[in-house]
Amino acid sequence: MITSTESVAEQNTVGWRFDNTYARLSDSLFAPATPATVRAPQLSVLNHGLARELGLNFDTLSLDAAANLFAGQVLPDGCQPIAQAYAGHQYGGFTMLGDGRAILLGEHRTPSGRLVDIQLKGAGQTPFSRRGDGRAALGPMLREYIISEAMAALGIPTTRSLAVVTTGESVYRASALRGAILTRVAASHIRVGTFEYVAARHDEPTLRALADYTIARHYPELVGTPQLYREFLRAVLKRQAALIAQWQMVGFIHGVMNTDNMAISGETIDFGPCAFMNAYDPNTVFSSIDRAGRYAYGNQPRIAHWNLARFAESLISLLDTDQERAISLATEALEEYPAVYEQHWLTGMRRKLGLQTEESVDIELIRSLLDWMLKSHADFTNTFRDLSTDPLPDRDLYRDSDFQSWHEQWQRRLHRDGRPVTAAYTAMRAVNPAVIPRNHRVEEALLAAENQDDLTVLHRLLAVLTRPYQPTTEVAEYQDPPVDESDYQTFCGT
Ligand code: AMP
Ligand code: MG
Repeated sequence: MITSTESVAEQNTVGWRFDNTYARLSDSLFAPATPATVRAPQLSVLNHGLARELGLNFDTLSLDAAANLFAGQVLPDGCQPIAQAYAGHQYGGFTMLGDGRAILLGEHRTPSGRLVDIQLKGAGQTPFSRRGDGRAALGPMLREYIISEAMAALGIPTTRSLAVVTTGESVYRASALRGAILTRVAASHIRVGTFEYVAARHDEPTLRALADYTIARHYPELVGTPQLYREFLRAVLKRQAALIAQWQMVGFIHGVMNTDNMAISGETIDFGPCAFMNAYDPNTVFSSIDRAGRYAYGNQPRIAHWNLARFAESLISLLDTDQERAISLATEALEEYPAVYEQHWLTGMRRKLGLQTEESVDIELIRSLLDWMLKSHADFTNTFRDLSTDPLPDRDLYRDSDFQSWHEQWQRRLHRDGRPVTAAYTAMRAVNPAVIPRNHRVEEALLAAENQDDLTVLHRLLAVLTRPYQPTTEVAEYQDPPVDESDYQTFCGT
């Protein structure tokens, strides 16, 4: 670790305000961990826009100083690096895990008072690494950077990516790959699996302390309400329902919705084998290991409900001293989920179709469009964007008589909505993205970065993805779906 006074002084200009509130909780929730020394850290990408939002400024740092910082070779003043303990239901089976390759430096307090986790992913082994090397490869870290920043720009709650550095060392997967570290910024890294971990150890004082901590940090409006833990469960459930509905609206497929990858804050977290759907099909799945399609696009709402049931179980001892009563409270709360989710879904779909009033026929209108899209292999993103465009772009696909009769029905519905259709189209363009991170475009950016050290492709892609609703001419090349994606796969734990 580099600790020369010069580099420490340089780091002081960044504006960090570190606290370690999580590390003050029971020490059964984490283990001290130190980022590994790496040979030759080099900055790959740095998110200056996010830095500004966080009240941080890296302009004054030399490239070397920034690389050392984001590789964990120089620790900012006031941070206390730890690896968090957690458990998780992975593909349905329960495991005690813990962060095997992510080190939490602490929480930074932004100028507006927000507390955000600063975490280094791929910074070396931790006490939870088991047989893993604690490292990460450049491709997957850049992939998380691109997709998380695209999600943020789409307006979907998500962890953010502040920087990626290469380590100058190899990591060995199927072949030798360039090692890298991602700096992840999150509202927190408390997961459903964190609660499962404590509940599995039957440590009630810690469970209560964790719940109180999480409520104060993410649901402060609940502090002091009667039936606090039941209200906490209901609030988490509502936030998850809203989040999953937002994923569905843009065709985002998380790919590995294990309970350790579901954040209590309601942010999207852990971008492993995630991808965006091209042609609409609820069965779409990209993850190489998800052969049964457990985490397919159309299953995500159900899986979130299943995960929330695991969360509810972990809270049982807090809900009531009488176990039967606790179970019935948990069950009642869980039963609210389907209706809450459906409402978010319907509201989101109405907005995608430019509807501001509600009619009972809307659901049928939406369903018949989706049925037509499935039958016609229509691209999910482009269809909604085309519908937001006046006049409708001329594509063969839209000459289909089923589509035309649907379109007439929709136009009549828009007229009943009581605002000029042009106003509806404008509103639609604010919710139907022109661009999403298409897999083939993301792969192209990663290949250039990995093989040629060329980050220009990635930066061009990011420039477009960070303004997804903006109609500009340069987006055209990013809008086309791939010619054939039948064998496209994404990989986990890379
Ligand atoms: P993920 O698939 O990234 O959600 O990771 C699942 C679990 O495996 C987490 O506990 C990770 O910390 C752990 N893990 C993933 N990759 C590694 C690695 N290279 N070394 C150690 N632990 C890892
Ligand atoms: Mg994970």
